[in-house]
Amino acid sequence: MKVPEWLPYGRQTITSEDEQMVLDCLRSDYLTQGPQVPAFENELTLKCNSTHAVAFNSATSALHAACLALGLGPGDLLWTSPISFVASANCGLYCGASIDFVDIDPDTALISLSSLEQRLQQAQANGTLPKVLVPVHLAGTSCPMAELAMLADRYGFQILEDASHAVGASYDGLPVGSCEFSAITVFSFHPVKIITTGEGGAALSRDPELVERLQRLRSHGISRDAFEQSSPGPWYYEQQELGFNYRLTDLQASLGLSQLRRLTEIVDRRQELMARYRQLVQGWPSSFLDEPANCRSSYHLAVITIPDASPNQHRALFEGMRAARIGVQLHYWPIPLQPHYRRLGFKPGDFPLAERYANTSFSLPLFPAMTEADQDRVLSCLEALLKQQGLA
Ligand SMILES: *Cc1c(COP(=O)(O)O)cnc(C)c1O
Repeated sequence: MKVPEWLPYGRQTITSEDEQMVLDCLRSDYLTQGPQVPAFENELTLKCNSTHAVAFNSATSALHAACLALGLGPGDLLWTSPISFVASANCGLYCGASIDFVDIDPDTALISLSSLEQRLQQAQANGTLPKVLVPVHLAGTSCPMAELAMLADRYGFQILEDASHAVGASYDGLPVGSCEFSAITVFSFHPVKIITTGEGGAALSRDPELVERLQRLRSHGISRDAFEQSSPGPWYYEQQELGFNYRLTDLQASLGLSQLRRLTEIVDRRQELMARYRQLVQGWPSSFLDEPANCRSSYHLAVITIPDASPNQHRALFEGMRAARIGVQLHYWPIPLQPHYRRLGFKPGDFPLAERYANTSFSLPLFPAMTEADQDRVLSCLEALLKQQGLA
């Protein structure tokens, strides 16, 4: 019997133009710290209607530098969603801050506004307000940013958007990354995400001081122009603070530039595939995460929820799909249930809606090169498994 082709949940698309751009860079004078990184940053700034973008070698690095730029340190609190990749919370731990989570809205799996408001009221009474909130645009769908910005004003915290999934998405007609409602927005360019640089990320901001700080932290804390001491010579530079080597290379940026040119096309294709998925599961005892009316998702993920599945049935569905060589994945097991976070005091039951989501959902394959036949294969397999489990 012929083994069916492995269908991953996500996969990059590399064109011959992408290859040519990287080859041109490889044959140029600069493999790193040349013209491609600023060119990529400019394009990203334009695409996002922002004023500045700072490229990093990963979203994780960008999140770390962003937390430092926002002044997060020991004694401070960072709040985020329990349903995200661990990096959304780890960035706070890197700075010596404490982490807490706010449960999700089950319809979108994004941070819940009502839980957040309630928690902020309590925190104000106890003197434990967060310094930074990291809303995560899960699956490429923006969090309700206008409402979050109002809460940020009222309670005095700063917003760092983890938009790792959401380059190319929009909210209220504005591109995610515009930073209209936040201090800093971070993107990831890992190959499974919307566009790729191999590894890579970026932090966008409208605040020139934050941008300067991000640029300095990216490169060892070194400044080449603003000197505190008088310059002893033309070779002089100053290390103003403890920074890192978090730089993106020109090779990576040239790939990013080429990919960015196709951003609209990529997101349109993801939207088209998602619309078809939604249409095909109408009437099923399962549904995809909501895309609120004022959002246009970039659809990094096609997350389906089977609300009536028990944890055992959920597992059987997941394993059945994998056995059929369909690369379903859970995005994500709640961060507070990770051993590292349990050791910090989090325990099962702390975020019941996040746990419920993790026990009833998984991501189906979704990437631009996917065909309608691939989608049909995914859904007919899922339908058979739902019947087998008595769920349809
Ligand atoms: C992928 C991802 C990150 C980390 O991105 P890297 O570029 O791999 O460091 C952070 N947050 C979320 C939500 C992600 O999905």
